Amino acid sequence: MYKEIKILGKEILPGDSLTLKMDIARLYTQSKLEVPIIINRAKEDGTCLLMLAGIHGDEVNGVEIVRQIVSKGYHIPKKGTIICVPVLNVFGFINKTREFPDGRDLNRMFPGSKTGALASRFANDFMNQVAFNADYCLDFHTGGNMRFNYAHVRLQNSDDELTELAKVFGTKFMMYAKQRESSFRHAMSKLNKKVILFEGGKSLSLDRNVTRYGIDGALRVMKYLGLNDFTENLVDKNPDTIVIKDSKWIRADQSGMYRSFIKVGERVEIGDVLGSVSDPFGFSEKKIKSKYSGYIINNNHLPMVNQGDALINIGLCK
Ligand SMILES: [Zn+2]
Repeated sequence: MYKEIKILGKEILPGDSLTLKMDIARLYTQSKLEVPIIINRAKEDGTCLLMLAGIHGDEVNGVEIVRQIVSKGYHIPKKGTIICVPVLNVFGFINKTREFPDGRDLNRMFPGSKTGALASRFANDFMNQVAFNADYCLDFHTGGNMRFNYAHVRLQNSDDELTELAKVFGTKFMMYAKQRESSFRHAMSKLNKKVILFEGGKSLSLDRNVTRYGIDGALRVMKYLGLNDFTENLVDKNPDTIVIKDSKWIRADQSGMYRSFIKVGERVEIGDVLGSVSDPFGFSEKKIKSKYSGYIINNNHLPMVNQGDALINIGLCK
């Protein structure tokens, strides 16, 4: 007997390779919007991996990672099943926004409900008709607004298997981060599914290094889970991973124009000058000094900042 996999009402048999269209919610014009779900099941039974991007419609690095995985044929397992969803929130993707068309953040609506708001119903159907089949999931995200994330993976610190999986993924940083209530990751972990969340780059912008790190990580995880071995295609064969145990934001002390003097990924010490905030007329400028020793995980690329805006996220190792 082989494991039963049923996606959008269709039984997926060993050897199946198909794309199903998730057609759940329509726009108020009655226009149909379909979400392609790309499924490949090997003849030999094994684990089921879901690679998902675009829960937030403007987070295009994730979309590009899953797109390249499909276009290069890395989504075809020798054993087990790989499900790829390059753009889940296709509505937001069309509108170049993070949100669902009902204004909600899809990643705060899980596990969803049959009778809730549009995003909630969509989340419910995706959970029950697609994601439920997966044993493991790689959930690809991109930094919100104009905030650029150095490529990293996030996970809960209480889970040994996830810690091992994050090390296998092999980004320069792995960060322990609490799960957000009602996120996809939270809902999946309640079902005992293992989810690694990838973050890299900033929304509405593609970055080649970020997509490469994401693809490399996915290939390493696929090998580790016994799905297929594409490791000869890795760009970085022996990555070292730095464990980030906590992170702190440096915020703007005053409103003005922000200029940064640092690069994401680099190490800084307490007292290092990270950037400055000045008025736009040339009268005054105030330096921003680091209050922490750690690694720059995120940098705000938007120069116009208000007092209190998050500028730089520093990852702490202890
Ligand atoms: Zn996101």
